[in-house]
Amino acid sequence: MRAQHLRGLGPLFAVAVLLGGVLAVAAEAPASPERVVAIVPLGRVKQEYLERIAQELQARMNVRVRIDARRELPKAAYYAPRRRWRAERILDWLDETPPEGAWKVIAVTEAELSTTKGKIPDWGIAGLGTIGGRNCVLSAYLYKKHSRTKEALLRRLGDVAVHEFGHTLGFPHCEVKGCVMSDAKGKAIKSADESTGHYCATCLGLLAPEDRALVK
Ligand SMILES: [Zn+2]
Ligand SMILES: [Zn+2]
Repeated sequence: MRAQHLRGLGPLFAVAVLLGGVLAVAAEAPASPERVVAIVPLGRVKQEYLERIAQELQARMNVRVRIDARRELPKAAYYAPRRRWRAERILDWLDETPPEGAWKVIAVTEAELSTTKGKIPDWGIAGLGTIGGRNCVLSAYLYKKHSRTKEALLRRLGDVAVHEFGHTLGFPHCEVKGCVMSDAKGKAIKSADESTGHYCATCLGLLAPEDRALVK
């Protein structure tokens, strides 16, 4: 529905420009179409995890965050030798079957994720995001396993969501102390706990002007 509505704006704008002149239209035109971030649960994911991630995103960005219907994990991403799921294959699959109308996609699972890291063919990770792309994926698996309280789990999960989302905004890993874009270097828990949960000024400086306006 939303996408149809947005498509409908094109001809309307064209007519308005012809009748009213560009300046008048610019003054009255609605703000650019709202950016939608879709949170896509893969397999069974606790609602409170999804809501916490939505809340963390909403606290930082002027975007509309939507929680989509659950999808099953793609079989092509299953890595049988370790009984876990290859994150880069999940990202490829999301590229092939994108949720409608989503500017960015945050896929969330409770299953264990892995990817290739340097010489290690299958390395367990908390999340993976495409730099400057649409999609990222993250897992509650490690945080569920290693968090003593639910609040610690939710805080760490929110942190990794902001981190992976940052990759989609174009941010690489960052050396600034406390920046949410720090490289976990294999220590997902320590990294989440040392993070302020925010993008530092250096990272934000990398944003395109139209994206900078979305940051609260
Ligand atoms: Zn990262
Ligand atoms: Zn930074």
